[in-house]
Amino acid sequence: MWRSVRNYFSHALPGASRRWDPLLAVYYLTYACDFRCPYCSDGAQNPYYELRAKVLPPDRVLELLRRLRRACDNVVITGGEPLKYPQLDQVLRGLPSLGFDGVVFTTNGHDLAPHLEAVAGAVRYLVFSLDTLDHERADACFGVGQGALARILTNIDRAETWVGSGALREIIISAVATPDNLDDLRGLYAWCKRRGFRFALCPQLQGVHPNAALRDNQAYHELFDYLLAEKRSGGPVNGSPKYLEYMRDLRKFACRPFTTVAVAPEGGVFYPCLELGQEAGNLLEEPDLARIRALGEARFGPQPRCDNRCQSACALGFSLILNDPLSMVPEVWHNARNALKLG
Ligand code: SF4
Ligand code: SF4
Repeated sequence: MWRSVRNYFSHALPGASRRWDPLLAVYYLTYACDFRCPYCSDGAQNPYYELRAKVLPPDRVLELLRRLRRACDNVVITGGEPLKYPQLDQVLRGLPSLGFDGVVFTTNGHDLAPHLEAVAGAVRYLVFSLDTLDHERADACFGVGQGALARILTNIDRAETWVGSGALREIIISAVATPDNLDDLRGLYAWCKRRGFRFALCPQLQGVHPNAALRDNQAYHELFDYLLAEKRSGGPVNGSPKYLEYMRDLRKFACRPFTTVAVAPEGGVFYPCLELGQEAGNLLEEPDLARIRALGEARFGPQPRCDNRCQSACALGFSLILNDPLSMVPEVWHNARNALKLG
């Protein structure tokens, strides 16, 4: 916790330092994935499952995470599909001893069942990617045959029985809004609300830019208005009202890429962000993030002045926390109110 406070002020105080003090580390455990979601895309519009990278053995993964822990209180384990990492349970069982405050694990959920005990022992926030409850549409989108959504929903039911035991505290449903699924997302949110899951919605990005068909799209706009109203009445919607407004309007924001650090499967650190795909150094060879930042700056230049882009949870969310901290007051109040309700 204290690192988060220190790192926040390292960004917030005038004359921001040349250090790299992230509020969140994001580790891409593997790029492998069996799914073929049509919107799957890194910052250069390559689907993750087409990226080639070796995976590290579990002891090296844990060493990498140990180095991230020295810099940061919170980590996201993601992919690709992290369940495709061959020795996942070994990594998960080693994670608690590293002492992260918050471990987030993102998954499509399809192959989760045999790993649930290990996940519940290490992960605080379990994030399922889901964009519709329509079985036909979902199965067609995933590309792994009929019955995929049914299996995922069964695994979500199973995961729910673990919430409150071990480390697991919350299930989050993360959805991508595309021009094709806007009609399904209110129903998905209503289902989340009934089940007590948090609902996180982001626009589809094609590379770094939002799908142009979402801009000035009335249904997209109205969907976010609906979520904003839900949020204001205490509904389980992820993000502050200001964040949701930026998502709705696909508004430009002043990015703060050094609030996160994104790390490739083999330990390469993306400078200044995953989206630009530039690796500045390997954390297993150079443990000092400030040094890696300096190497990145020497090789790729200073932080770029980006156009209107990257309305993603990390890039937009952390930038707003820094640029407009008062916008977080309703979010803090919302969380406190929910915590009191739970208590
Ligand atoms: S589940 Fe995730 S990584 Fe796999 S294809 Fe879909 S978006 Fe890409
Ligand atoms: S807006 Fe931020 S996250 Fe996106 S490319 Fe620019 S620096 Fe990277």
